Amino acid sequence: VYGAPIISSGEKERLKGIVLVFHDITELKRLEQMRKDFVANVSHELKTPVTSVKGFTETLLDGAAEDEALRNRFLKIIWDESERLQSLIQDLLDLSKIEQSKFQLNWQRVDLSMLTDDIIVMLSNKAEEKGIMLSKTKEGSGVIEGDPLRIKQIMINLINNAITYTQKGGRIDVFIQEYSDKVYFSVKDTGIGISKEEIPRVFERFYRVDRARSRNSGGTGLGLAIVKHLVEAHNGEIVVESEVGKGTAFTIKFNKNQLK
Ligand code: ADP
Repeated sequence: VYGAPIISSGEKERLKGIVLVFHDITELKRLEQMRKDFVANVSHELKTPVTSVKGFTETLLDGAAEDEALRNRFLKIIWDESERLQSLIQDLLDLSKIEQSKFQLNWQRVDLSMLTDDIIVMLSNKAEEKGIMLSKTKEGSGVIEGDPLRIKQIMINLINNAITYTQKGGRIDVFIQEYSDKVYFSVKDTGIGISKEEIPRVFERFYRVDRARSRNSGGTGLGLAIVKHLVEAHNGEIVVESEVGKGTAFTIKFNKNQLK
């Protein structure tokens, strides 16, 4: 009939269904691509140290072991690459447990300031080697409810990254500030910084701004992905502010009380 809609209302409903299906497929494809990228990344990351360990062992067996200096140099490389492999496997296992929510938080009172002191002592050698000043400032009690081991893991990752991505002679300030029912934990460095475009990506698994630099520093590219999941498991939030060449600040907002 002249003037009647080209698509009947029944047909419209059917098309709506079709449009929705397309959306679903796009999302499924995106997830499938992410899974493929992840598997490719894991394989690559595992292969590199294994290839290196095999190569250097073979050279040692072929006679290089007779030269003491060469032997020690190669053994040191083999040791470092094995350590790399070990942290990668540990991070992967951790991430997979965390992502599947197969882990339980052991909720307790956690003194952020005391934990920070422990970590500063733990990382002081690495900081001293680079002539980096590490300091802590606290306002309020800095006590929250959370899992002390997991919170320690968050802090080690952030402070260790700050040392890694800060040049010699720089400084790192850890702030613990309490405002009513929230406690803010921030790690500020005077390091290389992260560009605006890259800030949202640093929490992705295996994302690194500078692949070579990060690999040489012993990083796995999984640290911040783990940190984000752990912060969220504590019902907290993490934000990054950064300026290239000036420095970076990671700030976590924790709830002071959440146990009923
Ligand atoms: P990695 O093991 O490579 O350090 P992370 O997941 O901890 O992996 O961090 C991801 C990337 O984010 C790093 O490779 C680095 O490029 C960047 N990044 C993390 N922390 C900082 C920081 N404090 N300053 C500058 N860049 C950082």
